[in-house]
Amino acid sequence: MKRLSLQELNSGSEPALELDVAIVGGGVSGLYSGWRLLTAPNRPEKVHVFEMSDRIGGRLESIQLPGMHIPGELGGMRYTTQHEIVTALIEKVFAAQLTPVPFSMGDPATHYFYMRTQRFRANAWQQAQAEGSKFHSHYFLRPDLCGFSPDQLFNKIVYDVLLADPWFVQNYAGKVSNPARYDYRFQLTAEDWDSIKPRLTYCFPGAYHGMHVNDLGFWNVIKDQAGEEAFEYLGVAGGYYSNVANWNAAEAFPYMVGDFSNAATAYKTIAGGYDQTAYALADAFLHQRGSAIWAQNRLVNFEKTSAGPRRYSLTVFNGPSQKTWTVHADAIILAMPRRSLELLNQFNFFFDPETQLQRHRHMASVIMEPAFKLLMGFEEPWWKEHFGCTSGESVTDLPMRQCYYFGTDTHDSHSLFLASYNDMQSVPFWDVLESKDLEHWHPHPHKPHRIGTRTLEPQTWKKHARWTPRATSLAPQHEIDKFLDVQAPAAMVREAMAQVRELHGNAHIPDPYITHFKNWTEDPFGAGYHAWKAGVNVAEVMRYMRRPEPAEAIHICGEAYSDQQGWVEGALCVAERMLQEHFALAWPEWLNPKY
Ligand code: FAD
Repeated sequence: MKRLSLQELNSGSEPALELDVAIVGGGVSGLYSGWRLLTAPNRPEKVHVFEMSDRIGGRLESIQLPGMHIPGELGGMRYTTQHEIVTALIEKVFAAQLTPVPFSMGDPATHYFYMRTQRFRANAWQQAQAEGSKFHSHYFLRPDLCGFSPDQLFNKIVYDVLLADPWFVQNYAGKVSNPARYDYRFQLTAEDWDSIKPRLTYCFPGAYHGMHVNDLGFWNVIKDQAGEEAFEYLGVAGGYYSNVANWNAAEAFPYMVGDFSNAATAYKTIAGGYDQTAYALADAFLHQRGSAIWAQNRLVNFEKTSAGPRRYSLTVFNGPSQKTWTVHADAIILAMPRRSLELLNQFNFFFDPETQLQRHRHMASVIMEPAFKLLMGFEEPWWKEHFGCTSGESVTDLPMRQCYYFGTDTHDSHSLFLASYNDMQSVPFWDVLESKDLEHWHPHPHKPHRIGTRTLEPQTWKKHARWTPRATSLAPQHEIDKFLDVQAPAAMVREAMAQVRELHGNAHIPDPYITHFKNWTEDPFGAGYHAWKAGVNVAEVMRYMRRPEPAEAIHICGEAYSDQQGWVEGALCVAERMLQEHFALAWPEWLNPKY
């Protein structure tokens, strides 16, 4: 699948353009909406996508470091077969363009956990259990919880809360089981969960007795069920602080047992990178009559028009010309997350804080969860040589949190390593090391800059501020030079490598020859992913967002206000629902009718 060039994406402008539907956001939900609209039998004539950056894909961004052919993922990287829209798109609709490949999680016996300075193999819990003993971590868990791996403990908490509610037992007891001490099984469907989530009651004596689980945060529940030390343990050992944030507990339950704590979950990705999904959608969209993608064009505002040719006029800022232009459209789809919505003009008829209180309350009903990734290229897969690992991840309480061994290029020995995948409270640790501060030292990228008595030429300055990538036998200097601007700051790389060495207990791990990093907390995303707040009526807010004002043809879609947050699948489910409800699209023939 080839990347679309800026020319194909069209980075110009066409003032007074008239459209049936203007889609704002070239992430998967926007591109999917455009493709579905223009391939429907009752299709509108003209549907264009507006994207503020110079690429499409949004929070999917696959990159290729010089010297290797393995794609590096800065954003989303995998899907599961439970993701039915994604799976059908990749494996049926775009089967000719996309090649699914397993996303290997490797052998836990070759991975590390390093928490509270205790280093052990990731299969330590299962190994002890097989021997009839308990693995003791440096966490002071209650005696009855000691020996549970983080996945098993997540499952136990969900299971215990479900089975304490007589209503659940009466209706669904046959669908969950606990056949052995550490073995919890859940056969609840998405439909079951839709009915359980708003009804489930917390039936334990104490502060929360009789409350709806939907009104509690997941932290509240974990603390009440297992204690604060267990909460600390699950936050760290589970790999993601976002999983145990105090988000809506009823939403957290299916999320945790359906994926993260389910050892049977098999992941897949796409050869060439997960963002190929976005490119396949964009390519198919652009092949339709009446389509266009306007890159480097940022929506600034939209207003109702009384005399104009269409219902709404959109003010779009064109990056290359630094000028605004007007687009007229009969319907608008805002395919973007919470922070992007908040960056639009908040004083127009739609967002007016004086009159649109409910809109702002609903927009704020999701937690914005910071996420950060730091990729590195190595000449040799040191993880293979040092401890026989070929793929998968290790986890630590150090701020780097998770690292992934992405494997070795089949053509050579150069190897890709995700040195840090971290979220929530660990992101600020890296924030301060970002070159944002260095940009203050050197506001103009093309002019020399004085620091004290020294004058630094731009290239010298960049090399001082950022990690200096090194040419290798397979990555010649001219290739490396193209990556100078995306290098992580040198201090960040030094710090990350110190943590990587500490996690593995190996001071001889070499330095990378190249790096690349991304902090999704920056605008316009504001977060890597989102989570519903406790107490929110999720079904109602999701319905509301798909058409916030019944009298207006303005729609919001994407991952942020979905019931599979943090996944491409969530973004696509919301888009599909919105298209069926408000654009009269029929159920797609390629999608399981029972989904
Ligand atoms: P986005 O991708 O955020 O798209 C919004 C688009 O709108 C962006 O392109 C943005 O530039 C544009 N935009 C914003 N404002 C404007 C404006 N004013 N004018 C014009 N354009 C605008 N999902 C998975 O399925 N599997 C994973 O393994 C996975 N891992 C992840 C790891 C990380 C680190 C992150 C950050 C995300 C991950 N996700 C994963 C989630 C997945 O990437 C998202 O759910 C999905 O890509 C969101 O798509 P979207 O269309 O809702 O929004």
